This record gives sequence, C-alpha cells and structure tokens, in this order.
Amino acid sequence: MSQQTIGSWVPSANIELCDFPIENLPYGCFHALQDPTARKKIGVAIGSSILPLTNLSKLIDVPAHLKNSFELLDDLKMNEFMAISHHEHFLFREFLKDLLSKNSKNKTILEPIIIHQSDAKMHLPCAIPDFTDFYAGINHAFNVGSMLRPDQPLAPNYQWIPVGYHGRSSSIIPSGVDIKRPIGQTRASDGKPPYFQPTRRLDYELELGIFIGKSNQQGTPILVDEAEEHFFGMCILNDWSARDIQAWEAMPLGPFLAKNFATSISPWIVTRHALEPFRKPWLRADNYPQPLAYLNSLNNELHGGIEIHLEIYIQTEMMKEKQLPAERIVTSEFSKATFWSIAQLITHHASNGCNLNAGDLMGTGTLSGPTAEEVGSLLELTRGGKEPIEFGQGEKRSFLENGDTVIFKAYCQTAGQVRIGFGECSTTILG
Ligand code: CA
Repeated sequence: MSQQTIGSWVPSANIELCDFPIENLPYGCFHALQDPTARKKIGVAIGSSILPLTNLSKLIDVPAHLKNSFELLDDLKMNEFMAISHHEHFLFREFLKDLLSKNSKNKTILEPIIIHQSDAKMHLPCAIPDFTDFYAGINHAFNVGSMLRPDQPLAPNYQWIPVGYHGRSSSIIPSGVDIKRPIGQTRASDGKPPYFQPTRRLDYELELGIFIGKSNQQGTPILVDEAEEHFFGMCILNDWSARDIQAWEAMPLGPFLAKNFATSISPWIVTRHALEPFRKPWLRADNYPQPLAYLNSLNNELHGGIEIHLEIYIQTEMMKEKQLPAERIVTSEFSKATFWSIAQLITHHASNGCNLNAGDLMGTGTLSGPTAEEVGSLLELTRGGKEPIEFGQGEKRSFLENGDTVIFKAYCQTAGQVRIGFGECSTTILG
C-alpha cells in the first residue's frame, strides 16, 4: 500500500501515482513558451505544473536564512545553489513544501505564477562541467562481456574497481531534443578498408545520472562515509551508442565517437532528499569479494541502495502514423542492476585526488536487470542484432531506425511511501 500524499493546493499533484507530488519537488530550468524574451528560470515541478523559483522572493516573504539560496536562483546560478550544504537544501525544501501545501498562506500569490509544463520548454537543469560514464551495471557488463569474451565475461578488475571513462559534456541534451544518426568509421567484414557511413547499429543505454553538488578540492579524496554530502540528485540518462563504430574504434582506448555525439537526460533533478524514503541496504552477493576498505563502510551497507524502477518504451514512425502509443519493451530496477553504490562511485572517482565540481554528471552504466527481459540495451535484447524484437503491430527491430522515439521513465515506489517519478527522457532519431 502506498501512503497518501500530504497534499498540495495544486490539484494535479494530488493525483495518485503522479510523478511530481509535493513529496518530490525536483529542480529544472525552463522558459515559458508565451514569454517573448524566452528568459530562463529555475523551477520545481509540482503535479503537471512548475513553480518558478527565479524572482519568487520578490513576491513573498522569505526567511533570512534562505535569502542567499533565493538570490542564487534569481541569478540562475543553479550550480552554486547545488553546491550549498545538505542542511541548507533541506531547509529550502521544507520552505517549498510549506508554500505548496494545502494550507499554504501564499496560495493566492502563487496560483497566478505557476505554469503548466506543456506551456514550458525545458533546458538542461544546470551547467554540466564534466561527464563521466561508469560501467556499474554488472548484468550489462556480463552480457556484453559474454559476447566478446565467452570464456571470461567480466574482466578481473570488474569486481574491484568501479570501471568508467570520461565522456563529453558538450553533447548532453535534455529530453525532447532530437538526435541525428551519427556517421562514422566501421569495420568491413571482409578485411578490406573500413567504411565511413551512417551507423547501422544505433542503440540506447538505460542509465541513471548522478549530479554532484558540493565540490572537493583537487588532491583531496572523498571518504565513502562523506560521499553523499557531494550527491545532489539524479536524473534518467540515455547513453546513445553506435555499436558498429564502437566495435571498430574502441580498442585499445575505449569509447570515443561511438558515444560522444549525444547523451540525453531527463530535465528534472530528483534530489537526494526526495529519494531518502526509498533507501535500502547495499549488499554484495557472497560470490563476489567485499570492496577494498576505502570503498566499504557500515553506513553504505545499511543505506547505500536506492530502489528506483526503470522502463523503456519505443514508438516507431509506423506507430505514430497509426496513432498507436509507445510500447513498453523492458523494465528494470536500479538496486538490482548496479554493482556499486552512489557513494562508492563518488569516492572512487575522487580517490586519486580528482576534483569533482557542482553540476558534474556521472552515468551509472547500463542498468540491465538479472533476467533476459530486463536488459537496458538493444545489443543485449536482440543478442547483437541476431534476434530482432517484434512489436505488437508486427514491426521488428534489431537496432534503432530513423523516426523511432525512445522513451525512458523512472519512478520510486515502495510500501508505505508516496510514489515519486523522474518524468521521462524522450528522444527521436532523425536521419
Ligand atoms: Ca554507458
């Protein structure tokens, strides 16, 4: 049984199973479509609406201890807002809850300024200085490794190191922005020189993104028990992958042009505070060694996991023409898919003294569940393209085709808690 929401004066926030009840309050950056200046604002999602936070303190009384936070949002300094302490974020969030709760004394002032999400264009939620993509999804690592190295699917380092690579932040785009099918070098099967052509094996990767809040100084590692002080919140992430380009270029230095043409994210950052009710123990299965001491702590074992449910939908061009809805093809769950906790990923990243900055984004890696039906890429779902999937109306896919829209959704739902959602990460492939 899910708990009942504490309730908001925004009616759509009280609808059961909505993504953005008052218990969520994720941050995003938008502009109102009717605004001819297209001026960006920071806001929080509430039901199917947005409460703008930028310039809000000019309309209502804000307590002295929150003035600094509101000034940062007035100046669109989202990254600096993300870098304030967790305690300040907590107090700010409690104030927002008061503003939006059923008994809010500010309802008459706020009601005229909230805007419907369909009347807003969403942007990236913050500046993203650096992007790292981990490979923490062990089932994905095992499935892909089995195709490449059947005798040893997981490399010996996998069970000891949170494996990752530095990605590219310039090509990160919010949900709703189309991508063009990338062109690149692919190997010829007959030993001839490679081709330079549009990818024929375009794929998605179902991931979550972790946003850094508080920075660490270069040269100063982050202890595992302090790592979550640097964890601001999460989004859904699609690590677009051109498998034919990847297979040719990745040896010996790893992902490059097969990955950096685009990474899509959902536009709302669900905060660490909103995720707190969905914490669960982080446990390492007995058949794997316990992490080295710098990645291990009792607190991480007790609370390091978060239950986040994930879904993949595809809507092909033909489905759109026939006005058929997107078809759900896969479900998965974060805590069953990841080999490493968020705290461990942050700690490992900074363990050599690497400095993390507010707004830095870390992909978890593809979050495939333990069964063949829960896999987070077409590479796994179609076994390298050999076993195409078939949609309800009879169409088949080995990899993505032009006109396909890929939609990822995520939500947290557990007994006794109000369900919260991440919204969606939706992207259409153009030719
Ligand atoms: Ca990836």
